[in-house]
Amino acid sequence: MVGIVAPGRNVAHSCYDALYALQHRGQESAGMATFQNQQITVVKDNGLVSHVFAESTLRALAGSLVIGHTRYSTSGSANWTAAQPVYRSAGTSGFALAHNGNLTNTTALAESVGVLFTSMLSDSDLVAELLAREVDTGATLSEALALVLARVEGAFSMVILEADQVHAVRDPYGFRPLCLGRLGTLDAPEGWMVASESPALDVVGATFVREIAPGEMVSITKEGMTSRQLLEPAGEKQRLCIFEFVYFARPDAYLMGHQVHTTRRRMGELLALQSSVEADLVMGVPDSGVPAAEGYAKASGIPFGYGLVKNRYIGRTFISPDQSERTASVRRKLNPLRENIEGQRLIVVDDSIVRGTTTKALVGMLRDAGAREVHLRISSPPFMWPCYYGIDTPNRDELLAANHSISEMNEFIGSDSLEFITLANLRDAIQLSGECCDACLTGTYPAPIPVVISAAGSRW
Ligand code: AMP
Repeated sequence: MVGIVAPGRNVAHSCYDALYALQHRGQESAGMATFQNQQITVVKDNGLVSHVFAESTLRALAGSLVIGHTRYSTSGSANWTAAQPVYRSAGTSGFALAHNGNLTNTTALAESVGVLFTSMLSDSDLVAELLAREVDTGATLSEALALVLARVEGAFSMVILEADQVHAVRDPYGFRPLCLGRLGTLDAPEGWMVASESPALDVVGATFVREIAPGEMVSITKEGMTSRQLLEPAGEKQRLCIFEFVYFARPDAYLMGHQVHTTRRRMGELLALQSSVEADLVMGVPDSGVPAAEGYAKASGIPFGYGLVKNRYIGRTFISPDQSERTASVRRKLNPLRENIEGQRLIVVDDSIVRGTTTKALVGMLRDAGAREVHLRISSPPFMWPCYYGIDTPNRDELLAANHSISEMNEFIGSDSLEFITLANLRDAIQLSGECCDACLTGTYPAPIPVVISAAGSRW
């Protein structure tokens, strides 16, 4: 998500650049909403940022206030109707809302106002509906946000555009990231910006100011930025998703004061100290396994090299719901570099094993290319519990680690050995002292989870 207010400037192009930098956070749909002449204009469609926004579209999106979104679906549908920002015509200009996260009490929330959740397009659509109802009875949008978000459970970082202002709010746990940046200099400020990850600020020349705190709402107008604690924080420590460090965020992002790449490299170093094995080459599974492989090689003294070439034009969600398709898609995405593999004892570092199907296909591919031994090292502990806070994960019965011991997993995947980083080492690598949600690894869910879990499961 992105939000920009820069008086006197058209900001759609900057929003485009920022969304492009956040493409890894969602590839299903992209959208923007701008405000000009007392009117909100929303453009959104299925597809990547570069497909949705042609130059002519961006030129037509005039205005100095903008919010933007790229979608990766969790509980909602993956079709056009769920694309964001969501628009409602309540109040004088209406408002547009973009949401990252996943809400866990949607059925009860919908019932509380006499609607069926199944009649809503997504959890974000439901929040927009609840806000619109408050605004229609005379509340300002800020007041409506305070009233509605206090009743919402689960994970939400949101940006909301209304006449002449952009609001950005984070849930009381801080599950999903959101940071604040400044355009221009301290002496000559040109505006303010919010984004899910700091590289989105970098690409438009904004300066990182700070992370938005759990429960905080930042409001930006042409006069400047104000902040208030909209919701009581859920505890002393924030609960940013630990998987942002492991897999989700860009390596050049700063989260909780740490560059993600540095934490991934340290995960590899600690993994090497934790479980050594004789080998000729350490390689990472592109992209998120590579920094950890670099750290593993450094700590073990075993040379680092490239064993797989990734097709750069294939996105993260090029993973089909069908099992055999998923296996085939590994071949489209990764191809072995025979010269580095043939006759070699390999240490292969990846960030996670979820279902195990892509990992199994990968190990098979390395063996076909002549690898003598394949030792898998994983820079997250076994993934045993589904996420309800914004990472799309399969149901428990499809999570390999939930149903198998490590030696059974090793056998299924076909590796010579398999080791996972311990939770203590993962936390050390991120230099954590109590923060982060690690429910997917521990089963300890900090916020309530849905009572009825969809039988359909995920598309991931
Ligand atoms: P598998 O062996 O089938 O469980 O797939 C593991 C691979 O999926 C790893 O390389 C991860 O980087 C990647 N991965 C982990 N979580 C996700 C996710 N939520 N969406 C897409 N890919 C993921």
